Amino acid sequence: MNKKIIIANWKMNGSFDDAQIWVENFNHKLAKLDQKSLSKIVLCPPAIMIDFIDELLLESEFAQIEKTQKNVAEIEEKELEKLVANIRKINLGAQDCSPHEKGAFTGDISAKMIKDCGANYVILGHSERRQNHKESDELISEKITAAKKEGLTPILCIGESKAQRESEEFKNFLKNQLEKSIPHNLKIEKIIVAYEPIWSIGTGLIPSCKQIEETLEFIKNELTKNKNISVFKILYGGSVNAKNSGEILKTKNVDGLLVGGASLDAEGFLEIIKSA
Ligand code: PEP
Repeated sequence: MNKKIIIANWKMNGSFDDAQIWVENFNHKLAKLDQKSLSKIVLCPPAIMIDFIDELLLESEFAQIEKTQKNVAEIEEKELEKLVANIRKINLGAQDCSPHEKGAFTGDISAKMIKDCGANYVILGHSERRQNHKESDELISEKITAAKKEGLTPILCIGESKAQRESEEFKNFLKNQLEKSIPHNLKIEKIIVAYEPIWSIGTGLIPSCKQIEETLEFIKNELTKNKNISVFKILYGGSVNAKNSGEILKTKNVDGLLVGGASLDAEGFLEIIKSA
C-alpha cells in the first residue's frame, strides 16, 4: 500500500511544556488507531525541541519494548535501534538547515546536528524563509546537498504568489524553482516536494482539487524528467485542516500533506491523519 505522508510544521510556535503535552496526547491517541493503515507522520518542531521530543518518544518506545521483551538495558545497541525503528510512528524533521558543514555561521544549524538530534527530514525553501530571509533557489540547492550528505530527506517547498497564479505564469515559475533548487550534480534517492501556493499559506484560501491535481501533475512531469532523482513524493500544503484534508488527500497526484497552523493542535492533527 502506498502510504500518504503527513507532515506537521510547527514553525516558531509552542513551549517545551506545550510540546510535551502535544506528543503525549497525540502518541496516546495514535496508538489506538489501526497501525497498518497509518500514514507516515513527520513532525517538524523548532530545531531546539527535536532532541527533547526524540527523548520523549524513546521513553514511550522503551516502555513498549519492555512490555514484550527484556529490559532495554540488556539489549545490544544495534538491536535496540532496530526495535525502536520498527515501532516508531512519529518521524522527526527540522524546518531548515545550513548549507555549511561547520564554521563561523552564528545562529545556523548544520544537517549533521539535526541528524544527531534524531531527525531524518528537513524542510527546505519554505516560502517564509524565502521571503523573510531572502533565500534564493541557489542557496536552497546547496542546503539540499548538505542535507543529502547527512542522509536527511529534503522536503523542498515551492509555490507561486497570487499575482503569479493570476498571470498564468505560475507554471514557468514553479518549473524554474524546481530546476534551480534541486542540485544538478547529485544523485538524489529520495526527495519530497511540497507544493505550497504562497497565497494559501495561513490564509484559509485553497486551490480547488482540480487545480491541485493539475499543478501536481505538472510538478510530477518535471520531476520525472530529472534523471538524478530516483524516488519522489509530492505533497500539497496551504490552509489544510481536518475539514478539507480528506478531500485533498483523495485528489489525484497528492502523496500527502504539509500542515502548518492546524498541526499545533494534537487532536486536530490526529483528525487529519485519520482522514487519510
Ligand atoms: C506551511 O506554512 O507550511 C503551511 C502549510 O501553513 P498553513 O497550513 O498554516 O497554511
